[in-house]
Amino acid sequence: MKFSSDVYAVDTYDLVVCGGGASGICAAVTASRLGLSVALIERSGTLGGTMTGGGVCHLLGGRRWDNEKHKMIREVGGLFDEITDELIRRGKAIDPDNINVDYNPHGWYPRMGAGVPCDIEALKLYLDELILKENINLFFFTTVIGTDVADKKIVRIFASDQRGIRAFEAKSFIDATGDAQIAYLSSAPTLKGRDGDHLMTPATLIAHIDNVDIDEYVRYQNEHQSPKLVEIINDLKEKGIWKFPFEILLSIALNDKDVCMLNTERLIKVDGTDPGSLSASMVEGRKENAELLELLRKYFPGFRNARLRWTAERVGIRESRRIDGRAYVTLEDAENGREYDDAVIRTTYNFDLPDPLRPSFDPMLGSVNHPDTRRRHTSIYAPYGVMLPKNIDNIIVSGRCISVCREVLGPMRVTGPVMMAGQAAGIACAIAKEENTDLSLLDGRKVTLKLRAMGLKI
Ligand SMILES: Cc1cc2nc3c(=O)[nH]c(=O)nc-3n(C[C@H](O)[C@H](O)[C@H](O)COP(=O)(O)OP(=O)(O)OC[C@H]3O[C@@H](n4cnc5c(N)ncnc54)[C@H](O)[C@@H]3O)c2cc1C
Repeated sequence: MKFSSDVYAVDTYDLVVCGGGASGICAAVTASRLGLSVALIERSGTLGGTMTGGGVCHLLGGRRWDNEKHKMIREVGGLFDEITDELIRRGKAIDPDNINVDYNPHGWYPRMGAGVPCDIEALKLYLDELILKENINLFFFTTVIGTDVADKKIVRIFASDQRGIRAFEAKSFIDATGDAQIAYLSSAPTLKGRDGDHLMTPATLIAHIDNVDIDEYVRYQNEHQSPKLVEIINDLKEKGIWKFPFEILLSIALNDKDVCMLNTERLIKVDGTDPGSLSASMVEGRKENAELLELLRKYFPGFRNARLRWTAERVGIRESRRIDGRAYVTLEDAENGREYDDAVIRTTYNFDLPDPLRPSFDPMLGSVNHPDTRRRHTSIYAPYGVMLPKNIDNIIVSGRCISVCREVLGPMRVTGPVMMAGQAAGIACAIAKEENTDLSLLDGRKVTLKLRAMGLKI
């Protein structure tokens, strides 16, 4: 796609990062610290992507509850720890080390208890500070709409803003759009959803509610040993009151005592790459959250006086495009804990990608009533090649659109591993510049070594 006659400005950098979510931020900061001139392009006016605009200010994957040692283990290191530690220091996030996992309002059971719930405004503010401190050139309200590819390289990308179309040229590009949007615009092959019908895991419009009596809610969970309150939902279903296609309640207490992140509704058949589908999901998502809150207030312990504070600015998409990359992690690789000399992402988070049509059933984990406990693993790794689209030599993809099978996306898509992937992408671009080579030709083992040298747990 070319817009040469309409372009009002052309900027040149060592690196252009497209997308200012968890992954893009970590990529930009890492590359800048390694000496690259960096532009960060974000279509909204907020950094953080799903963490902020999507309302998911509960950062999983960076810590894991170790049942034997009975303590939280840090599993990612690097910028995940830097960001969460700073928010904790400011009193704007909960330190999982200091919670009682047996009586935990921030998720109640250990996997969720290992998350770091943050104050969403404090997170936005800190991410702005972080990017500016690193001298990264930040372009808000700028949407990448096309790329110019020649000889298997992106020469420039085109972005739309209030003034028209601006071009960005660089040696390397990072696609951290979550949707592999830049790879797709450059005609690199991508995959979407499950084989055959291409349906994707359900989406959620996150809602934040306040005035929740957390103690009453958690007391009920504890007394009934029921993290998701399914028995109440089953009862309401039998009575014809609960008509939603999902059967769980997931409400996580945030930093302020009576405030919860409601991650409950599940919108099926949403395609995060289709504007029509996205528009419909926002309308449906707001409607369902309002209906849900009515039921919560009437029938669920702790929610009698709950009020809606805010619904997210964008529907939360767990799965959309993945690149068909130069390497691919299969389910067998993950289940066998396959290791790689050039591993650049590691996750210890659970398999977690609900069925596209049955939102409370996870093909890898079973249902809440009948969990499948066979799948136990400690670490899942991905090699450098999962971040490299085929056909284009100077782009690297990070975040939730890497080249892994759907099942493996579950543990790879949460904040911890997505941040590690961003750091790996930033490092790769710095090495590519230093060696004057292409990202596609680079020895991924050098990225692994540098990640370790920077304190990442890989
Ligand atoms: C409903 C839901 C609940 C979740 N719950 C949790 C949880 O509890 N804990 C957890 O750790 N993880 C959770 N996750 C997963 C996690 O939040 C995300 O997978 C992760 O944050 C994705 O980060 P990312 O940087 O890859 O992508 P994103 O956060 O999607 O960021 C991509 C950014 O790119 C920008 N962008 C896209 N296209 C363009 C373009 N063309 N031009 C310019 N900018 C563009 C977007 O505006 C966005 O800011 C959840 C996800 C969802 C959807």
